[in-house]
Amino acid sequence: MASNKRDYYEVLGISKNASQDEIKRAFRKLAMKYHPDRNKAPDAEQKFKEINEAYEVLSDEKKRQTYDQFGFEGLNNQGFSGANPFDIFNEFFGGGKNGGGVHFSFGGDGESPFDGIFDNFFGGSGRSRRSSKAHAQEEQLYDLNIRARFGITFLESVLGVHKKIKLKIKKTCPECNGTGASNEPGSLEVCDMCKGSGVVVKQQRTMFGVMQSQGVCPKCHGAGKIIHKPCKTCGGAKYLETEIQIEFDIAPGIKNGETLVFEGKGNSIKNKTGNLYVTIFVEESRIFERQKNDIYTEVLVDPLKAITGGNIKVPTPYGIKEIEIKPHTANGDQVIISGHGIKSSKKGLFGHSSGDLVATIVYAKPNKYSQEQLKKIKELSDIDNPQVEKFYKDIKKELEHE
Ligand SMILES: [Zn+2]
Ligand SMILES: [Zn+2]
Repeated sequence: MASNKRDYYEVLGISKNASQDEIKRAFRKLAMKYHPDRNKAPDAEQKFKEINEAYEVLSDEKKRQTYDQFGFEGLNNQGFSGANPFDIFNEFFGGGKNGGGVHFSFGGDGESPFDGIFDNFFGGSGRSRRSSKAHAQEEQLYDLNIRARFGITFLESVLGVHKKIKLKIKKTCPECNGTGASNEPGSLEVCDMCKGSGVVVKQQRTMFGVMQSQGVCPKCHGAGKIIHKPCKTCGGAKYLETEIQIEFDIAPGIKNGETLVFEGKGNSIKNKTGNLYVTIFVEESRIFERQKNDIYTEVLVDPLKAITGGNIKVPTPYGIKEIEIKPHTANGDQVIISGHGIKSSKKGLFGHSSGDLVATIVYAKPNKYSQEQLKKIKELSDIDNPQVEKFYKDIKKELEHE
């Protein structure tokens, strides 16, 4: 399967040493082009998936490094998520913008992700094209939206938790209003090389004749303006970066990969402010495993206790719980403690859907018994076990045919 896959760099049409900005740009362009909502070509969906997968890996420095070194194989061994391409797409473009404050971006409110795109690209109000070139250049300086990842423990994901995170936000420098130049006269001039357009036409002599191509102006690097005297407040950077702290509650039952949306907590450019998207990663537990709203665990029980029945202790996220198991409990049997799974705060069709804790009984090694104890047990163990009888009957059949 892996061998049929196209190289991720090839998929995004970028070079091996492309910067994160180049990766983002390539993804933005291709994801919009091949989104099945707008592209009805039969192979659009396949291409869209490919593009999202490539972006998921290459946008993550760690995964990218693994891929560079070991290729697709390396990612498989590392547990490549194979996330839903639409989730990657929605996260990138910041889908969902209902209500205020914190909400989950998952949950399919039926809103087209393109609403988000147009907001990001064309400035939010209405569907008008961007008003000026300068506007587009400011948007490229940095993204309005901030995306962060945050890890919590399995227990925190079940019980809910209060967290604080620190992050840096960028905003347009109020002193120069984003020009990067001092307010003194003559600090800022229109670039004479590109006449303020930011682009230059290059002519190149090739074996096919003279080729014309457009490129970014090398003198002003596309800004269209030359700064003679930089702004003292931002040092010419055009923006200021400040550290802020955000406190929030993670509700019990959050799933691995869910994204919290903090509206208006992103970067700002002039009077426009983006959102902060915090994707929560839940660490794996050594004891518990979540499946939907149920939690699975294993509990070690002495075989004789399992046979006679009695009280055992079962680990749950809410503490150790003592329960009674019935006589004749077999190795691998499951006992259920209802209501001890995920206590979901989200309402389903039938109200709050809370899960159960499912414990699988695992026989421990038998105790070391004294001779006397063994004698007692032996009397019982000489009773025929129908399953063992059947086993010998079955293998006998096959052996006699040989
Ligand atoms: Zn220029
Ligand atoms: Zn400034």
